[in-house]
Amino acid sequence: MSDKKFDYWFGVPRKEIKWYPKIDPAACIGCGLCAVICGRGVYSYDLVSKKPIVAKPFNCLVGCQTCANLCPVGAIEFPPAEVAREAARKNKIFIKVKKMLEEKFAQQMLETAKQYQAQMTRHEKEIREIEKS
Ligand code: SF4
Ligand code: SF4
Repeated sequence: MSDKKFDYWFGVPRKEIKWYPKIDPAACIGCGLCAVICGRGVYSYDLVSKKPIVAKPFNCLVGCQTCANLCPVGAIEFPPAEVAREAARKNKIFIKVKKMLEEKFAQQMLETAKQYQAQMTRHEKEIREIEKS
């Protein structure tokens, strides 16, 4: 199961990418940190057994390993990072990333271009004044 808003990753059906956490129940001490910190609702928590459950694995953000990095006993495993990189390559996400980058930073690019233009105008004016003198 997953939430609709996480069904696709750069237009790729999320279920096609095998990226999600696995918990070693023998190592897990049930602290609950993973269940609390994941902002995507991947985990639920069994209050009886005092263990987290990977309830919505495909909500997991491809490439994220935050919960594994924070688990105090290293009980969370992910596939090798290469799985995420390969998903990015295979699905040609960088074409989409480029477009998104341009959209996200369009205003910033415009302002940089204006500043550059103003700087060049000042510079040209200075040169003209030097040439006149
Ligand atoms: S952070 Fe680690 S030890 Fe804590 S509940 Fe999650 S898996 Fe278990
Ligand atoms: S890796 Fe990130 S998104 Fe995936 S379950 Fe852990 S905290 Fe949530």
